[in-house]
Amino acid sequence: MTSSNPPHHKLHVVFFPFMAYGHMIPTLDMAKLFSSRGVKSTIITTPLNSKTFQKPIDLFKNLNPSLEIDIQIFDFPCVQLGLPEGCENVDVFSLTNDYDRLHMTLKFFYSTRFFEDQLQNFLETARPDCLIADMFFPWATEAAEKSRVPRLVFHGTGYFSMCAGFCIKVHKPQNRVASSSEPFVIPDLPGDIVITQEQIIDGDNESEIGKFMIEVRESEVKSSGVVVNSFYELEPDYADFYKRFVAKKAWHIGPLSVYNRRFEEKAERGKKSSIDEVECLKWLDSKKQDSVIYMSFGSVASFKNEQLIEIALGLEASGVNFIWVVRKTNTGEKEEWLPEGMEERTKEKGLIIRGWAPQMLILEHQATGGFVTHCGWNSLLEGVAAGVPMVTWPIGAEQFYNEKLVTQVLRTGVSVGATKHVKVMGDFIISREKVEKAVREVLVGEEVEERRERARKLAEMARAAVEEGGSSFNDLNSFIQEFSS
Ligand code: UDP
Repeated sequence: MTSSNPPHHKLHVVFFPFMAYGHMIPTLDMAKLFSSRGVKSTIITTPLNSKTFQKPIDLFKNLNPSLEIDIQIFDFPCVQLGLPEGCENVDVFSLTNDYDRLHMTLKFFYSTRFFEDQLQNFLETARPDCLIADMFFPWATEAAEKSRVPRLVFHGTGYFSMCAGFCIKVHKPQNRVASSSEPFVIPDLPGDIVITQEQIIDGDNESEIGKFMIEVRESEVKSSGVVVNSFYELEPDYADFYKRFVAKKAWHIGPLSVYNRRFEEKAERGKKSSIDEVECLKWLDSKKQDSVIYMSFGSVASFKNEQLIEIALGLEASGVNFIWVVRKTNTGEKEEWLPEGMEERTKEKGLIIRGWAPQMLILEHQATGGFVTHCGWNSLLEGVAAGVPMVTWPIGAEQFYNEKLVTQVLRTGVSVGATKHVKVMGDFIISREKVEKAVREVLVGEEVEERRERARKLAEMARAAVEEGGSSFNDLNSFIQEFSS
């Protein structure tokens, strides 16, 4: 990365990501991007999470010795806050049983309020020009206001889902359908987008999570604006809608992943991979162009064994090459989720990664021809930037909205057929037949060429957006100018 157009006054931006990989990874990308434009970046995090940031930051500083990026560590006394020892990241309890996971996630959200005093003290001492704090820290707007520092919100998702959520909150169309599975068009949202009540998250204001989301929205309204990991050409109607009706101000500066240009940067993204990157790429090198399906469900979701068995048998039946990431580590015990002999039978065609995969490197490899994704925004955008068609398999959060963007607007993916938001994971199972059908459709089906062409064009637009003069480049310039003056 090179520094261009440094502002006269050296801007100092503080970033405060929620403690989950899907939020920390793009925030680190964002902090590196800001530094590369001559800004001093500081990332606030907790002691254990700082380890995830330290190595990529050291690498970035070695490559760019004149640029400024630092970590500020805040205390997070888990046990005192009623959380298990060492529980500084949602992924710690994402593998526990369903009840505990839901209960602990909420507890975790509310526990972050503990940071409020530390944040205020830090802002008063460091006097940065602005704070870009995660949406899940609604209390941060007030803490920043007390310190007279403008607070910006980072949602970690795109314009489309934020607009869809907004329209559903305002019009409540879900209250006018006869059943939770009856499709309806989201009112006011451009594109006549069809969804069902079972797929939305913005319906229930009375639930604990609903109440929390109201706080999130209120804090956003009081904030100085929103920074979005997206690019204009991906979702122009929704970028316009969002800027016009939803947010006071918004700047899009993505896709953030593409600022990682070197092999080491891509390999170091997130946790350390459970597989040697070079081995993984060698395996891909041995496969033909666009012949491999890559399947991953992000950093949090974990399926029950019944679902994993269906996936395994569906992949095997499809007969295509695959890389399948399973969020389990091999403890040496019998792996109940893996059908007897499946790994051996598919050893020529398949690679199962237990734990963490070097996702960017896999998606960008020319052998990767399709991506089965849970539609987490980072994964989706990484798939877009790599020009890879997708099989959409949303599970929770805002992922069903993201799916509709891919299947109804961009038309670069096919749905596996997940019909409802899985509040409790494993609520329903996608059959092996559905897995097989969707995987084959995206890799070797009738519309493959048209879909691939559309995906390729989007990838070109993504790259152009971050280059000098591109839409994201320019929006970042406007941001820097606004907060420098
Ligand atoms: N990721 C990765 N390897 C994995 C799993 C996830 O590199 O094995 C990265 C992925 O590239 C993305 C992030 O973790 O940047 C996951 O974010 P996303 O929004 O897709 O999903 P979430 O984990 O928040 O559900």
